[in-house]
Amino acid sequence: MNTIEKINRDWDFVIGIEVHVQLETKSKMFSTCEYTFDQSPNTLTCPTSIGLPGALPSINEKAIDFAIQFGGAVNATVHPSFSFARKHYFYPDLPKGYQISQFDKPIVTGGIVPIWWDNKKYNIELTRAHLEEDAGKSTHNSSKNNSQVDFNRSGAPLIEIVTEPVLTHPIQAKIFIQRIKQIVNYIAISNAEMEQGKLRCDANISIKKKGANKFGTKTEIKNINSFRNVQKAIESEIKRQHQLLEDGKQVEQASLTWNNEKNTAEIMRVKENADDYRYFPDPDLPPVVISKSKIDSIKKGLPTLPFEFESRWINEYGFKPDEATILASTIDIAFYFEEIVKYDVSPKNASKWITGELFRLFNEKNMPFDKNKVLAKDLAKLIYLSDSEKITANSAKEIVRKLFNSDKSIDSIISEDSYLDNTDSNIKDIIKKVLEQNPNEVDRFRNGEEKLLSYFMGKVMKESKGKVSHKIISQELNKKLKNS
Ligand code: ADP
Ligand code: MG
Repeated sequence: MNTIEKINRDWDFVIGIEVHVQLETKSKMFSTCEYTFDQSPNTLTCPTSIGLPGALPSINEKAIDFAIQFGGAVNATVHPSFSFARKHYFYPDLPKGYQISQFDKPIVTGGIVPIWWDNKKYNIELTRAHLEEDAGKSTHNSSKNNSQVDFNRSGAPLIEIVTEPVLTHPIQAKIFIQRIKQIVNYIAISNAEMEQGKLRCDANISIKKKGANKFGTKTEIKNINSFRNVQKAIESEIKRQHQLLEDGKQVEQASLTWNNEKNTAEIMRVKENADDYRYFPDPDLPPVVISKSKIDSIKKGLPTLPFEFESRWINEYGFKPDEATILASTIDIAFYFEEIVKYDVSPKNASKWITGELFRLFNEKNMPFDKNKVLAKDLAKLIYLSDSEKITANSAKEIVRKLFNSDKSIDSIISEDSYLDNTDSNIKDIIKKVLEQNPNEVDRFRNGEEKLLSYFMGKVMKESKGKVSHKIISQELNKKLKNS
């Protein structure tokens, strides 16, 4: 049992997560200039995004649509009226001295994100999701003893998703954040790549004695930059808080940053409260009102979500949660699987071939799933041919590999390499030839030495290059040996 599990025997963990997802709109949250990742520093700016005097914000409608999509996806309340507020703080990457965010009237409140952890389902409650603008990016070069600011990201649109303090384990927190990435990928509002800074999260943590009602004092770890580090950062903070409390000390409300090199969370500052930010309604941006019909039509346009696929497959196909979650991992895989099932392939079989053969090929090439490498209808056909023993499972695997590695059609692969030729007349010819070449063995077999069947089987399989199923060869052989 590791340290965390040991602590968990006597202490409850209370975790709340804040996830920032960058919305992939063409232009920024409050201006028309664009943001794309990885451009030369300070080339994607405009008066509004660097806070020049007199520059006024105007709201990006697409970002609002995206927030509505997210709200719909997690079954939250999407408010037809909401407003923006200024959140004040000083930092070199925040040129206006305030960030435009939402405070008391966010666009989305409530909602639920279903996750699987250890084959059990948990409905993680959200507090809210609000729109805001991103800050620029500061880089501190300790070796050169300087800092640099890049304002490209300044003003990029973000949605901040906040959970209730309902997560109970570092692994569960990691799974939750992966789920958020998956959901925003499904609804195509962000690629949410952590390496590109397009998904960033803060973890709020407190611990309390098992069963205690009152929450302990929380701390917040900022800037966690990978899924693995979400778990590690929370674990390290649980250990630190546990040590303090075991020593009779107190946890102080604080913000920490995750230090990648040292593998620990370091205290950055004793935490501010909401009042410290002097939030107030942004006078440049009047409250927004959107029609209910617009909200409804955006919600109607949502695709099936990963947890919806999972529930359906678990209920209708008897899948285990693990199996369902793998197939629902991306929307492309989910649709691919559903398409194969539509060709009358049994769901179990479709799942086995996709997660077995097909995933193996993508893994070998270290590339993400691409539905065009092996078309669903082709894989469905191969599964059918293999199930009905028109070709062997081995041949089917070979053909999948050839489809994957070439642009040839399935029919040309099957005919060029004569995968089907060996089934009917051809297999009869091969058997005839083998029997003719081994007259003595045939006589001995007919005189009762039935174990010679495997001798013939071997010969025929060799001649047919493994392309004909064991069952068909043995049927045909038995027929020929016993009848003539
Ligand atoms: P703040 O004002 O510090 O931002 P909030 O109440 O808005 O605090 O909560 C921020 C996040 O912290 C939310 O995800 C919330 O669920 C979580 N949280 C609140 N209280 C606790 C606690 N005692 N332990 C752990 N997480 C908490
Ligand atoms: Mg906070």
